Amino acid sequence: MAASSAERMTDPDADERPLSDADISEFRRLLQAKRIALVKAAQDSLEHDMTLDTNEMPDEVDLASSEYIQSFALRLRGRERHFIEKIDTALTKIEDGVFGTCEECDELIGRKRLAARPETTLCIRCKEDQERSERDFR
Ligand SMILES: [Zn+2]
Repeated sequence: MAASSAERMTDPDADERPLSDADISEFRRLLQAKRIALVKAAQDSLEHDMTLDTNEMPDEVDLASSEYIQSFALRLRGRERHFIEKIDTALTKIEDGVFGTCEECDELIGRKRLAARPETTLCIRCKEDQERSERDFR
């Protein structure tokens, strides 16, 4: 992936300074804004489902496609819910004062990675290890 190789090339001294209080506040604001956007997106897809439900009795083809749309919307909500949970975990970490530290190796995650994915719980090395072992498992 292009993004991860770019992250590896960043200067570690510039990238892995501990986060200041101001950095933490900025990440908290970022996470809260993401969370609000996700909750709103989930609500919008829910409202969309409800308008589908009030349609007149569909014929067989329409029923099949509306079932498809609904299962798609459900999967999407599952992903949104999963993402919201990750954001909540990150916000809890901020409250606990452990935000920005990798759950696997206790190293600093790196501010560029956090800026791109403030909800991440793994440093790029552990994330790549995880993705490799997930690929091997499949
Ligand atoms: Zn790590």
